[in-house]
Amino acid sequence: VIQICLPLSALGMIFRQSREALINAERMSELLRYEPEVAGQPAAELVLQGGAVEFRGVDFSYEPGRQILHDIDFAIPPGGTVAVVGGSGSGKSTLARLLLRFYDADSGSIVVDGQDVRSVTQASLRAAIGVVPQDALLFNNTIGFNIAYGKHGATAAEVSEAAKAARIHELIESLPAKYETMVGERGVKLSGGERQRIAIARAVLKNPPLLIFDEATSALDTRTEKAIQAELDQLAQGRSTLIIAHRLSTVVDADLILVMDHGRIVERGTHAQLLKSQGLYAQMWDLQRQQIELDASGTKLSAQP
Ligand code: ATP
Repeated sequence: VIQICLPLSALGMIFRQSREALINAERMSELLRYEPEVAGQPAAELVLQGGAVEFRGVDFSYEPGRQILHDIDFAIPPGGTVAVVGGSGSGKSTLARLLLRFYDADSGSIVVDGQDVRSVTQASLRAAIGVVPQDALLFNNTIGFNIAYGKHGATAAEVSEAAKAARIHELIESLPAKYETMVGERGVKLSGGERQRIAIARAVLKNPPLLIFDEATSALDTRTEKAIQAELDQLAQGRSTLIIAHRLSTVVDADLILVMDHGRIVERGTHAQLLKSQGLYAQMWDLQRQQIELDASGTKLSAQP
């Protein structure tokens, strides 16, 4: 398997990069199977019931003297969807990193199905969480390998089922060697949207009870964005889902929206509730609407006849 071929220096590099962004979370969770635990040596495996997640009074700093998260409290009920919005640097991705236990909270706790994440093995925690990162990195290997990575021993039929669910099967069938086509640096280049679909297909194969979706910041065209949203909705069905959102269109249907500002949750509620309360979220919504209208008029102007 791939991690055995990686030199230690590469392993260190992947580890550091992954802590910066969520991009390589899945690959890292494989690698970390052989790393010591963040703190202590918990022996227990996570026992899953419905996949309920709770952040209880979480404070966190990456470095001493600069607190990033302040008293974060929220719950994702089993199968529910919580979306986090807020400006750049407000702490959204940090929530996901703590849930994946790349770091431990300074105080407070994060609890999955009643078990503190510090009391269970990282391998069992991460096996329960599917991550669809902003920009999925692909192995220099076949597209089939890249999807099958979601599940050890996946059959070709399972891989193509997952690809169909992620709406990438047709594209793959049109490639020169279909599922055997090489992708990555030395193969066919895929767009951001296509790479995100590969990540969705991996997550479909992994079939985890918990899901983290880190929405791409890079502009996908509106049609791709809508289509990916539809695939994500499907994937999130029946799973407890944390969405780190950069576009408000993604969060409209969430059971709960958290609005973050400088590491604090400053507003919470459903889309309708937040619009009604005319706070920060309502302002962000107006701004994005104006931006979308501007972009749309720009598109019309530049459109070919
Ligand atoms: P964006 O929308 O731009 O992705 P975000 O809301 O997800 O931002 P985070 O990535 O959670 O923000 O970062 C929150 C804060 O923590 C920022 O001030 C950031 O500079 C800081 N930070 C993030 N990672 C680290 C790190 N590894 N070491 C030190 N500080 C960090």
